[in-house]
Amino acid sequence: MPMRAKVASSVSRTAAALSRAAGRGDGSVIGGWIGLKIDPDLLAHLSAGRAIALVSGTNGKTTTTRLTTAAVGVLGRVASNAFGANMPTGHTSALAKAGSTPYAVLEVDEHYLAQVLEATEPHVVALLNLSRDQLDRAKEVAMMAQLWRAALVRHPRVRVVANADDPMVVWAATPPGDPAQGHVPPHVTWFSAGQRWHDDSWVCPECGSTIQRSGGQWWCTGCPLRRPEPQWTVEDDGVLDPTGAWHKIQLQLPGTVNLGNAATALAVAAEFGVRPVDAVSRLGTVTSVAGRYAQVDRDGRNIRLLLAKNPASWLEAFDMADVAPTLLSINARDPDGLDTSWLFDVDFSPLAGRQVLITGDRAYDLAVRLDVNGVPFRHVRTFDEAVRAVPPGRLEVIANYTAFQDIRAELDRVN
Ligand SMILES: [Zn+2]
Repeated sequence: MPMRAKVASSVSRTAAALSRAAGRGDGSVIGGWIGLKIDPDLLAHLSAGRAIALVSGTNGKTTTTRLTTAAVGVLGRVASNAFGANMPTGHTSALAKAGSTPYAVLEVDEHYLAQVLEATEPHVVALLNLSRDQLDRAKEVAMMAQLWRAALVRHPRVRVVANADDPMVVWAATPPGDPAQGHVPPHVTWFSAGQRWHDDSWVCPECGSTIQRSGGQWWCTGCPLRRPEPQWTVEDDGVLDPTGAWHKIQLQLPGTVNLGNAATALAVAAEFGVRPVDAVSRLGTVTSVAGRYAQVDRDGRNIRLLLAKNPASWLEAFDMADVAPTLLSINARDPDGLDTSWLFDVDFSPLAGRQVLITGDRAYDLAVRLDVNGVPFRHVRTFDEAVRAVPPGRLEVIANYTAFQDIRAELDRVN
């Protein structure tokens, strides 16, 4: 690396370490910020010489990044922004901290994908899904898909691993090549990770016609856009690879959504030459991811933490949660987005028949929503009150971002 980059990298590591020592989080944002101030090209310098995978999408990024890191680890040391700081400051900090590694797997906020593609020149990019998120500041889904598509046109050599079940992702991943300009369409490997949430992809991003669905297939009624045939699919409790071999997946993470994330991780790792048969056992070593899915025993209750930030992820959380007493917590602080009207996009009726407790800064928004859905609930002021209100046994906790962090702090920052 050039001298300026070496200095920037070293200062970045020191700043992050000081921030950690001062008890101010993991320091990755401030470390990366200072490093990039000293050398604006630091991320590019730190990326040079590494084989990199980027993982982006509205939901499942952190977990898929963790699973992919485990799978690529078959080949050697892998740098990763494991704690979810998914903007360029976080990537810079993660690579500076890891020192020289042959591989890196980086979670990327979907708004920053173009910028991070430019800086890191990855070998492969994984595109998971696109759905509405943080209504007061996120881009609309079609706009996001357009940004991804434009970014891929500028990087025709990157290998794309993309979700065949999400029409917006498929459209973004298949920009037309323009031979006159020397553009070729990107090389895409398709996986099927399912799509439980359909309400952001009823309209074709290419022609505006209706998209129809039947039996796992989808197609545009006005143009040739349709579901591509996936090479990697989830079947029963395992994954079918492109050769037709089936691999049993034993995860410590719940839900079919995580089987899809495992299929994605295997597909990305395969782009580096990892054989699925060598990687599957490593996927089972991932327990919880920055507190997500963590289980804690307290006062005879087995408490499980599920993070859900937007309508699509709430649907997945309802699928993962056992039929057991359930605590819902909603905040609307800066990292959550200030607008909670998306609660009305979620159908809470799957919770009917369960003991439902609500808490958080915006518990009353939840109360109105549950009332409209006809789901009885009780409001509790604290997490302890919730624990005392349920019988011994499983307590499922579903919370959005800062609400989740608050409860995680109550449980001594469980990982
Ligand atoms: Zn169409």
